[in-house]
Amino acid sequence: MAFTLHGLPVSQGIAIGHVHLVSHAMLEVNHYHVAAKYLPEEVERLNEAVATVQGELIGLKASTAGQPHSEVGAFVDLQLMMLADPMLLEAARELVTTRRCNAEWALVQQMELVVDQFDQIEDPYLRERKADVVQVVERLVKVLLGQPQHLPPKRRDGLGTIIVAHDLSPADTIGFRDHNITGFVTDVGGPTSHTAIVARSLRIPAVVGLHHIRQLVEEDELLIIDGTRGVVIVGPDENIVEEYRLRRSELELERSKLNRLKDTRATTLDGEDVNLLANIEGPKDLGQVKAVSADGVGLYRTEFLFIGRDSLPDEEEQYEAYRTVLKSLPGKPVTIRTFDVGADKALNGVGARFEPNPALGLRAIRYSLAEPQMFLTQLRALLRASVHGQLKIMIPMLAHAHEIDQTLRLIEKAKAELDVEKIKYDPRVEIGGMIEVPAAALALGMFIRRLSFLSIGTNDLIQYTLAIDRSDEAVVHLYDPLHPAVLKLIGGTIQAGARFGLPVSVCGEMAGDPAYTLLLLGMGLRNFSMHPGHILEIKQQVLRADVDELAPRVQRILKMDEQSKVREAVMRLAG
Ligand code: PEP
Ligand code: MG
Repeated sequence: MAFTLHGLPVSQGIAIGHVHLVSHAMLEVNHYHVAAKYLPEEVERLNEAVATVQGELIGLKASTAGQPHSEVGAFVDLQLMMLADPMLLEAARELVTTRRCNAEWALVQQMELVVDQFDQIEDPYLRERKADVVQVVERLVKVLLGQPQHLPPKRRDGLGTIIVAHDLSPADTIGFRDHNITGFVTDVGGPTSHTAIVARSLRIPAVVGLHHIRQLVEEDELLIIDGTRGVVIVGPDENIVEEYRLRRSELELERSKLNRLKDTRATTLDGEDVNLLANIEGPKDLGQVKAVSADGVGLYRTEFLFIGRDSLPDEEEQYEAYRTVLKSLPGKPVTIRTFDVGADKALNGVGARFEPNPALGLRAIRYSLAEPQMFLTQLRALLRASVHGQLKIMIPMLAHAHEIDQTLRLIEKAKAELDVEKIKYDPRVEIGGMIEVPAAALALGMFIRRLSFLSIGTNDLIQYTLAIDRSDEAVVHLYDPLHPAVLKLIGGTIQAGARFGLPVSVCGEMAGDPAYTLLLLGMGLRNFSMHPGHILEIKQQVLRADVDELAPRVQRILKMDEQSKVREAVMRLAG
């Protein structure tokens, strides 16, 4: 009997496939009995995993020796110590034998006991070391389960696999790229979380915030996801499957109709030129950027270069990635954002630390300035790549003038190093900043004085203005781009940019949502940066707009202080 569930649509499209249940973290492992005669083998499996992880950690330490991440050595030593601690491993081996169970399960049981003991410790520093215990066990479990994720092989019936999970990290989602994953659904998550952003970039339909879907479906069961409406159908019969196949073809047809706009310039009815730029995560997205003839790249999220791996990319690897993007878009601006790590884009392994409040912690520019050598490596790679195209460097999550000053000093240092080494770079590379923190939007002068362009990151600006976690589905109903406070910050930034002659763009998800195009045009926005999959739809909106007529209406909206009135007025803009 089929049944339907409703969640949050985060990545458009229809997927039909078979369920594959994955655990929310590596640490949610299955329990199974092991026959007595196989118990020595099971213990040996655990010993081998320990040896592998020891090797990995020693390799990691050696590869970062002499590098800036001074804490890496200490962190690796601590994990090596834990691997030798009888409280963890010896006890887990004993559990395997006495409980006749699999090694992963024994390990996680024992880890929970150890973590409980850490929780009792009064010293906050020592208490936080429990994160290291969890990480080392995570490494072991990964090895035991046979890296990196237990993804099922390609199916013979032509249908893909739909991942059903409690939660997925952006790194998990990137891992789907090389498998036949046609969609995913999760218990938790929000539409502007980085996991959702990656899903859209991979064009994998996804619905999140389904609460207990893992308990409601079975492995291999047939599932349909409607990522546009947020609907999931469990166990559909042949008629329903047919209906959705039809709907999928209709969506594809609509998409191909939009393709006709590909080479049309985005100009409003009253002749205003609008730039429609692409958000990318790396060279792999270039095909999509070219397919829609984007005007350039407005946001290259470089942190995706190293999410989901244990080592940092060196200068050469970064240079190659940046150069590839710049070279393939000759004559078009390419805005590359320096690493925005932290919060839901935590580094795996290297440098990972426990944070009580990651979204408010060491992320983005704060992280980069705390790791000046890592930052300098990126700046050198960027400057070297600048000779291959029209590079602009963008700094995420600025809030303080001294952050900009420190960044500019580091850029000068990188240039000086390259000068000494006689390596070429473009001395005119523009430096811009993201406006993502309300404090920045309310104190624009210090940014305008120091920078060449601004880009509004509405995903974070909304998160921080309304104090809601963008990846938490429990508060997603409060995530409102039309909140009057949010609109005042966006409108104010666009107007200040115009007043002082500084280009302003929007590169958060709002720029790619047709519901907000007229509003943003009326505020004076002329640079929209979004996932390339949205560019043609937004172009269609731009072609129908008359900004001369919109501007005074939007000015009135910006003065409103009732959400419901704002919403009605924004809807009327299209009517
Ligand atoms: C934003 O915050 O709007 C933004 C574009 O940055 P990210 O989504 O990568 O945090
Ligand atoms: Mg952001």
